[in-house]
Amino acid sequence: MISATKPIDTPRFAARLRARAIDVDGRRVLISRLAGSGQEMDLTLPANCNGYGRVRHFRMATAESWPANPLPIAPACRTLGIAPVPDMMTALVFQNAACAWRCWYCFVPEELLKADPKQSAWFTADELVALYQQIPDPPRIIDLSGGSPDLVPEWTPWMMRALTDAGLADSTYLWTDDNLSTTYLFDSLSREELTQVQGYRNYGRVCCVKGFDARSFAFNTRAAPEDYDRQFDILRRVLGLGLDVYGYVTLTSPHADGVRQDVSNLVDRLQAIDPNFPLRVIPLRIQVFTPVEQRLARDEARERSLSVQEEAIAAWIDELQQRFEAEQRALPICDVPLKTRPT
Ligand code: SF4
Repeated sequence: MISATKPIDTPRFAARLRARAIDVDGRRVLISRLAGSGQEMDLTLPANCNGYGRVRHFRMATAESWPANPLPIAPACRTLGIAPVPDMMTALVFQNAACAWRCWYCFVPEELLKADPKQSAWFTADELVALYQQIPDPPRIIDLSGGSPDLVPEWTPWMMRALTDAGLADSTYLWTDDNLSTTYLFDSLSREELTQVQGYRNYGRVCCVKGFDARSFAFNTRAAPEDYDRQFDILRRVLGLGLDVYGYVTLTSPHADGVRQDVSNLVDRLQAIDPNFPLRVIPLRIQVFTPVEQRLARDEARERSLSVQEEAIAAWIDELQQRFEAEQRALPICDVPLKTRPT
């Protein structure tokens, strides 16, 4: 049980969930069953893959005053040789059934985050790829989402192997989410698996920073404020692998004081990891999905935080304008060079 008042002890809770969410010897991952779940009513299309997959529509367009969101459309098109880049692409999404955090705005209901065997089932990567192959006219993007795929990092190289074995490595684009909550990617993968991830061509990884300071992070995730700093340590290590890495950031906070300075500090921290990385980061506007709506009704601070994110996005845009030339800002996101991925 998670206490309503005490912050989540991330290392402990993540370890407990990992033990229940991956079968390393059997090379299986616990996948959420979306059909019949609380998430189902938010899906635009019925769940597919026997109830364990869903089609997500990724769109460039966002809300007024918010930057367009080219993720993962632009990197997928670049890798797959699709031109011109469309405004919308579909992806097949599988969700691992565990996450150590409890973001109040999460569109995944808690029942699909606690590695509950009643709401999920075990799959090998080969079985997931076989389900993908049964979809008529399947999406070219496969999104390993959650939950928190970083609790079960073996899932990524296992999928890469399964896609390669099925002859799909070149015709699909693999996109994985990383909540920056653990270092399991570095602790649990063998050298060979890590090399496989580094060498897989059609792959992009998106790391999500959950807040613009320790207070907003703790408010958003219910984890301890110290975990905010850990996100950047983990991000530095992920970038150090030379992967094609992107970022999301959420900007909700119940505190309206010092927002501009805090956003500026956030951009400093990202630039300390890689001077250009902020140009690969897309701020995500928090919107109200059904599970969120139920939680929102009970909490004024959360409602307030939705207005704070509007001030924070204005600050984010100003920071990027001040720090980068128009030419750099106009680059397609997948062409933004990184120290570990010079173009
Ligand atoms: S880290 Fe992601 S999956 Fe986990 S609770 Fe937060 S938004 Fe949901």
